[in-house]
Amino acid sequence: MKGILVIADGLGGRPTDYKGKTCLQAARTPHLDALAHRGATGLLDPVTPGVRPGSDVAHLSILGYDPYCEYPGRGVFEAAGAGLDVQSGDICFRTNFATVDEDFIVLDRRAGRIESGQDQLEAALQEIQLVSDPDVKILFRVSTEHRGALILRGEGLSANVSEADPHKKGKRVLEIHPLDNCIESRKTAKLLNELIEESHTKLKKIPFNVRREKSGKPPANILLPRGASSMPNLLSVNEKFGVRGCVIAGGALYRGIGKIVGLMPIQVEGATGGLDSNLNNKIKAALKALKTQDFVFIHMKGTDTAGHDHDAKAKISFIEKIDTAIGILDEKLDWEETHFAFTGDHCTPIDYGDHTAEPVPLLLAGPAVMSDDVDKLDEKSAQYGGLGRISGNVLPMLASLNNWLPKFGA
Ligand code: ZN
Ligand code: ZN
Repeated sequence: MKGILVIADGLGGRPTDYKGKTCLQAARTPHLDALAHRGATGLLDPVTPGVRPGSDVAHLSILGYDPYCEYPGRGVFEAAGAGLDVQSGDICFRTNFATVDEDFIVLDRRAGRIESGQDQLEAALQEIQLVSDPDVKILFRVSTEHRGALILRGEGLSANVSEADPHKKGKRVLEIHPLDNCIESRKTAKLLNELIEESHTKLKKIPFNVRREKSGKPPANILLPRGASSMPNLLSVNEKFGVRGCVIAGGALYRGIGKIVGLMPIQVEGATGGLDSNLNNKIKAALKALKTQDFVFIHMKGTDTAGHDHDAKAKISFIEKIDTAIGILDEKLDWEETHFAFTGDHCTPIDYGDHTAEPVPLLLAGPAVMSDDVDKLDEKSAQYGGLGRISGNVLPMLASLNNWLPKFGA
């Protein structure tokens, strides 16, 4: 048996989203509704009720890991997802290119969301040598827009350090400090502060930024690292369930989560991790992968982006785009030997513009799924679904339907 899990990031919403409906209620979703009719639905608390999860924590939990014990911090996922080869002992960070003035006051946390030419920023950073310890290597990779990932590789480093991003315009870049008294944490904090200063010195002068300033765009003139973490010791999906799987995601974070749990990343043309992502191509790539793999995890990001942007119409239209892609999946999937799960990793309501703790709809379909009486997929209909209300662990549920799940106990 095969399994396919589709997570629409920030799928869930509130009745305040759009004319008294959630975006999922307001969207036209004939294909998801048809699957809800044939399959079973329920409500999913991505972690547990009353927890407002970050996407990384929610994904780990949905994939069957215990985020309270097994969450390493975000940096390691970003680094793996950006294509860096994360090794044991590496200290990984997610980063933003931001715009600051000469006093390091943040003018734009995202440097105007850079559309292209990020390789020039990457090249400038690779030239930096840290005088506090020249043996520590800096590995850097841009991912999407202003985002990137950083690894510090060397002896005597620690992930127990604070972050640089003040998360607010008009505030000064935060000085990194050690979060414990270890010599490793103090050394890492010192190296990072040097790296941040050096990034400003280098980046402000490069032609890429000179051109941006001339055309009235905010220059990407500083690197802000956060989310320090090192390689966790997780059992892979293969070790847990004895199957081989892959991940399809435009966003580096999600590709990285997949890689860290042992899923092979598949590059898909037009998979951007944005609202413009080519979802049909992702589904086609997944169908192709299922010919040789047991499991595919597909991530779709636009629902969350639109939620953060308080843009109900964009979220509704992205949900409809997901539905069209699911239509292709429904038509082409071998339903005799595949189980399908569809859900979100949390709610991102339009008014609030950030993640909230309410549960999200979950849909399971396939030959072993006991169908219920729900024939529409949304937050309200799913309250009446046969799956009830569950916490995380969607992949283990798929694994059970596929007879992959090992027994707990004798
Ligand atoms: Zn998310
Ligand atoms: Zn989000």
